[in-house]
Order: sequence, then structure tokens, then C-alpha cells
Amino acid sequence: MKVVLLSHTPEPERLVAAAARVCYAEALPEEVLAGMTPEEIRSFLARLLAMDHLSPFEHASFTFAVSGVSRALTHELVRHRIASYSQRSQRYVKEEGFSFVTPPSIAAHPEASRIFAATMDVLRRTYAELLRLGIPREDARFVLPNACVTQIIVTMNARSLRNFFALRCCGRAQWEIRELAWRMLELVRRVAPGLFIDAGPPCEATGRCNQGKLSCGRVERKKREGEKCAD
Ligand SMILES: Cc1cc2nc3c(=O)[nH]c(=O)nc-3n(C[C@H](O)[C@H](O)[C@H](O)COP(=O)(O)OP(=O)(O)OC[C@H]3O[C@@H](n4cnc5c(N)ncnc54)[C@H](O)[C@@H]3O)c2cc1C
Repeated sequence: MKVVLLSHTPEPERLVAAAARVCYAEALPEEVLAGMTPEEIRSFLARLLAMDHLSPFEHASFTFAVSGVSRALTHELVRHRIASYSQRSQRYVKEEGFSFVTPPSIAAHPEASRIFAATMDVLRRTYAELLRLGIPREDARFVLPNACVTQIIVTMNARSLRNFFALRCCGRAQWEIRELAWRMLELVRRVAPGLFIDAGPPCEATGRCNQGKLSCGRVERKKREGEKCAD
């Protein structure tokens, strides 16, 4: 999996803080934006987070290039509606000899690994054969697996990202999208720590799990170990 932060709103923390401050200021928005000191920005953002006043976070956007992930992952990713996506098309791009993601549980099991790889091989050959018979790519792709590798550009604003991190950094999320979410969180924390300082699974910020019986058990585990949950 490769995850690159391609671009983001310039000075995202300043913009979010200034946008919120405009709600209470008599000065022109551009004056508010220019006039805020780094300390004011930090403390304003902390207050917004504490109050759950999150609409100003929608002004800051982040664009990621994600490659080497499975179609299973992107199917879950695109369920996040407050975002924009551009994904490699299986209608226009020939998937002959496609690469695939092997889940760790399968990779760790020699017999399962052998069956999995053999099935991928059959699917590759079936796909190629369908194309050879003149079947259009958009129909031949029906035999492609969820494991098929894809690439996607995703843009989300900071508020939507925070929701994404809460859901997908959680131990209940599927392993591949969870890895993606943590990688994305690491990238945005580097450029805008004030927007994402407390982002991630709810248990990180609160020490409590909201998943009931479906909990991954991390909070209890960490309690037993006597430290704050951090992975
Ligand atoms: C662990 C896990 C298991 C899951 N299992 C399943 C499953 O079995 N089956 C399945 O279908 N999905 C499943 N999902 C997907 C899940 O139901 C959501 O579709 C997905 O996580 C996107 O979340 P979202 O709607 O909050 O994000 P977004 O679509 O980005 O929406 C962000 C927020 O905007 C608001 N919003 C967006 N659209 C509307 C709307 N139409 N009306 C009102 N408010 C809206 C909501 O507050 C929402 O939280 C699972 C997700 C997770 C994390």
C-alpha cells in the first residue's frame, strides 16, 4: 500500500481558526485570517474541538493518492460520502495480469496461500480469454476479484476526515482500510496537528469504547496493561 498526501489547503489550521473566529468578529474575514497568532490559532482550535463546533473544519481539504490497495478496500472507502474520488476504471484500463492483495491470514497459511494464488491465476487467464474472444473490458471485468489492486485519489475536508478516522482507525474496522486510515492520519497530523490532535478511534481520546459487544477489546486490554491505548 502506498499513501501520499498530494496536496492540502494552505495553512489549514489558520484557515479553520479564522473561519470560526469570523463568526464572532467585527473585522473583515481577511483581516481576521492575517491577524491571528500561532498561539491564538492553537487555543481557538482546542476550544472548537472541545465544543464540537466542527463546521469550520470543512474549509480545510486534503487530497491523497492511494495505490496498491484492493478493490475490497476502495468499496469500503467510497461509502464515505463527504469526499471526492477518482479511481482507476476497469472499463478503460486493461486488467490483464492484474496484481492482487493477499490478506495476511491467507499469506500466513501455506495451503490457503496456494489455493488463493491458483485462483488468481485462473481469473487472470479467464479475463484474458474473455478479451481474446472479443468481450468488452466492461464485461470481462466481472470475473475480477475483490483482491484486484487499484488506485484512487481521495479528497476529504478535515471534518469528514475526522469522522473517517473515528470509524476506520477503530479496531473493529477491516485490517486494510484500518491501515490506510492510520497512514492518512499520520500524514495529516504532520501538516495540521491542531485539526487532528485527538482524531482516531474514540477510545484514543476518551479511554472508552462505544462499540459495545462488538468492541475489539483494546480498551480493556490496555487497562489491564495499565497504559493508554495507542496503536
Ligand atoms: C466497522 C464498520 C462496519 C461496517 N459494516 C457495514 C455493513 O455491514 N454494511 C454496510 O452497508 N455498511 C457498513 N459500514 C459502512 C458504514 O455504515 C458507513 O456507510 C461508512 O462507514 C461511512 O460512514 P458515514 O456515513 O459516517 O460517512 P459519510 O458518508 O462521509 O457521512 C459523514 C456524516 O455525514 C452525515 N450524513 C451523510 N449522509 C447523510 C444522509 N444521507 N443523511 C443524514 N446524514 C448524513 C452523517 O452524520 C455521517 O456520519 C461499516 C463501517 C464500519 C466502520
